[in-house]
Amino acid sequence: MGHQAGDYVQPGARNEQDRLAALDNYDVLDTPREEAFDRVTRLVRSIFGVSMSTVTLIDGHRQWFKSQQGMPNQETERGPSLCNAAIQHPRPLVVPDTLQDLRFANNPFVTGAPFVRFYAGVQLRSPEGDAVGTLCAMHDQPRPFDNAQLAILVDLAKTVTSELELRTLATRDALTGALSRRALREEFSRAISLARRHKFELACIFFDLDHFKSINDTHGHGVGDLVLRACVEACRGELRSTDTIGRFGGEEFVALLPHTGAKAALAVAEKIRAAVARCRVEGENSPVRFTASFGVAALDGSDIDVDQMLKRADTALYAAKATGRNNCQMWHEQQPESGLLRRVLKAGLITFNGGRSTIESTIRGLSKSGAMIQVISTAGVPERFKLGVVSEELHRLCKIAHKRDNQIEVVFE
Ligand code: GH3
Ligand code: MG
Ligand code: MG
Repeated sequence: MGHQAGDYVQPGARNEQDRLAALDNYDVLDTPREEAFDRVTRLVRSIFGVSMSTVTLIDGHRQWFKSQQGMPNQETERGPSLCNAAIQHPRPLVVPDTLQDLRFANNPFVTGAPFVRFYAGVQLRSPEGDAVGTLCAMHDQPRPFDNAQLAILVDLAKTVTSELELRTLATRDALTGALSRRALREEFSRAISLARRHKFELACIFFDLDHFKSINDTHGHGVGDLVLRACVEACRGELRSTDTIGRFGGEEFVALLPHTGAKAALAVAEKIRAAVARCRVEGENSPVRFTASFGVAALDGSDIDVDQMLKRADTALYAAKATGRNNCQMWHEQQPESGLLRRVLKAGLITFNGGRSTIESTIRGLSKSGAMIQVISTAGVPERFKLGVVSEELHRLCKIAHKRDNQIEVVFE
């Protein structure tokens, strides 16, 4: 096709697992609209005179738009999405007329709404080369797109990636004042060295708000933001001045407790849990209450690093989620084999109706006996189905145990 921007080279082949981890690191999915990204999609529309432009991120089961102009939805399923095709493509994907292209002529987004006839998508890549999404221009009429135009789109895509990267460099989270993920990791790393050298104790508490999506959906993002702030406030009230709190992701926080052993840390987690459960935030009509689940891990004699310690606390947190939420769990050596849920991030396929119906999903938690699955909508998912997770070579019959918002918990049969 000859559409190729000179300086855009294909990075080494990376697998889907790394790609999802890179996307997770940006912590951008399901966040509100932002001017910095909207400005770019507006520019794309006016420079190229196209009707649609999006900053698309490709999650395990969906394409989600951080910014979108001229599109009816905030997210759609992943499989047929043109941006999903684009991220598998080594170079920017340019399709002057989708109906003349065998790959897309029968695509539901071409033959149906939003009737994409022209598509140009440039991959948004992490520094390691993982394509987390695209910046794209789309039109409902076919049109040519030359190298000079593509070079402009490539440059605009770079401003989008810089914007995503920039956020990961901040040391403080603007909303809550907690340390950013990056700053927390640095602090954590220093604390571990110090504790090792001087034989101090050190513990961390990983916690995550329960059913936070419901709070946003019911009361709006503004109230959701107030809840996040209140949660950090409540946590600070229970910590010592030498402790640190960081925002690890959307509604996930880590408290770092120097000079504290496992048992004492569990007691602190319990105090924070109670303080969070006592919080009230002004809602539209009535006060909003909320809870969180907690996982605790402490430095032991073994030679573990920040990642391993966070992983332990996170495993314990998932155990707390699996045991009804609003509780605290301590990490135990045998936990990985105990059948408790571990956090994963994998694309999975729900199949039913004798294999004729499929729904894409992202697997967020997995154990020997079940899984925690995210879908765009739980409507239409039957009580029993087959779950396929290619990267785990897992194919299991599942029965729904709980269903809420966009999340399904299943037990394997
Ligand atoms: P669980 O009990 O299993 O943790 O369920 P959950 O609903 O808390 O978990 P999920 O990960 O499905 O939802 C997290 C939500 O957090 C999704 C996202 O919209 C929201 N979120 C992330 N960052 C922010 C933010 O800065 N402000 C607000 N208001 N919401 C945010
Ligand atoms: Mg949560
Ligand atoms: Mg979470």
